[in-house]
Amino acid sequence: MPTATMPDYPHNPNQFLDSHFLNPDRSNLEDIRKLGYAFVDLIVDSVLDSQNQPFVQDDSPFAINIPEHGEALPDLLAEVRSQILPRTVNFQNPRYMGHMDSVPSAITIWADALVSAINNNMLSYELAPIFTEMEAQLMQWFGKLLGMGDDCFGTLTAGGSLANISGLLLARNWKQPQSKTLGNTHNLVAFVSDAAHTSFEKAMNVIGAGKENLVRVPTNDRGEILIEELESAIQKSIKEGKQPFFVAAIAGTTVTGAIDDIQAVGAIAKCYDCWFHIDAAYGGAGIFAPKLQHLFQGSELADSMTFNPQKWLWVARTCAMLIVKDKQHLVDGFDSELPYMDDRTLNFGNLNLQGTRRTDSLKLWMALKSMGISGCRYLVERSLDLSDNLRQWVDANPDLELVCEPTLNIICLKSANPQLSSETLRQQWIEEGKLWLSLPLWKGDRILKAVVLHPYAGF
Ligand SMILES: *Cc1c(COP(=O)(O)O)cnc(C)c1O
Repeated sequence: MPTATMPDYPHNPNQFLDSHFLNPDRSNLEDIRKLGYAFVDLIVDSVLDSQNQPFVQDDSPFAINIPEHGEALPDLLAEVRSQILPRTVNFQNPRYMGHMDSVPSAITIWADALVSAINNNMLSYELAPIFTEMEAQLMQWFGKLLGMGDDCFGTLTAGGSLANISGLLLARNWKQPQSKTLGNTHNLVAFVSDAAHTSFEKAMNVIGAGKENLVRVPTNDRGEILIEELESAIQKSIKEGKQPFFVAAIAGTTVTGAIDDIQAVGAIAKCYDCWFHIDAAYGGAGIFAPKLQHLFQGSELADSMTFNPQKWLWVARTCAMLIVKDKQHLVDGFDSELPYMDDRTLNFGNLNLQGTRRTDSLKLWMALKSMGISGCRYLVERSLDLSDNLRQWVDANPDLELVCEPTLNIICLKSANPQLSSETLRQQWIEEGKLWLSLPLWKGDRILKAVVLHPYAGF
């Protein structure tokens, strides 16, 4: 039995309604507008204009304190300003380069509010006709750009993990079609490198194939999968009576930003009749830099690919996608009944693990329209140049050394001074406000990682 006692209604229900919804008589139109302007001021003055503020100002505990009666909105905004914002991680600071978290481009911040205001639902065509068309066309656009061929299709997802999980599910249903209806996925075994993202373990759990049936193939010093090791691991599993069904190449590994030899991994996947997935959650944006394009050779072999514009394309979260070479795989993989919808149309709810989804397509489309392809190229190449500055600084500093040759705008370094651990160095830099780097585990050691995403990154 719930024990909560409910308070009476708000003191003044009409006033309450007016502060939450636009009244059809339009009497509170200006008040709602003012609320919006107050948010604009808060966002511009207290979030965006905090480039010189610390990485985190206040790490003291916080209590949510839900009141019986609603607070006045100006008071609430003041509380957000004084109590919440100081406790946030300040990605606006150009010295923050810890993880694959970018400062969102201005257009996508406001576009995200627009998405919320429109609030259409990607579950079905009838709940979001324009955005269903938009998402379909955007997925084909990205798929073609990334080399997936003319019949590609895809869906936006709530992150790269979900895209990877979806990819594995499609692979399972392709290899063992009965598993969709009857379950039973015994003997299936998947292959990724030891530098691949942890979402592949999650995925094996979700699809019922089991985490222990994910084989982690060794990588070289940069974090690129060893092709011969991949092939012998597959052969070994076959000898053990298992059924290889899924092989992934990583384009932009989580620690070093390495890109596997896509062509070679894809060829092996096809040779052993496996689904070939490319996890380009991070590195996919590299396609905009001509000097990186050759690294995507072989992507036409891929059955599916993950890409997150929320990382290296500066789109406000969330914005991630799963692209497939053949739309039919999405249909076969997810198709279920939507009895309460018009099913003669394209319903993304049937092509996706999610039901209701935001129209992230609008945000992505506005980002692409406003930047243009040349703008995407400029920003991606600029971040490569800025990361090269950092690399040169490391090279010139006798106390530091590079862990491996970078592929993308991710620089891995460590202390070369036996008196000073990388961990201590990192703490020092954070306290001085010099740099915020992360401290990933890499081949048994704690190292320092910089992901140079801020367009004004400096140190
Ligand atoms: C970020 C990342 C993921 C996971 O994406 P989320 O959006 O965090 O779920 C998966 N794979 C790679 C290579 C990534 O960089």
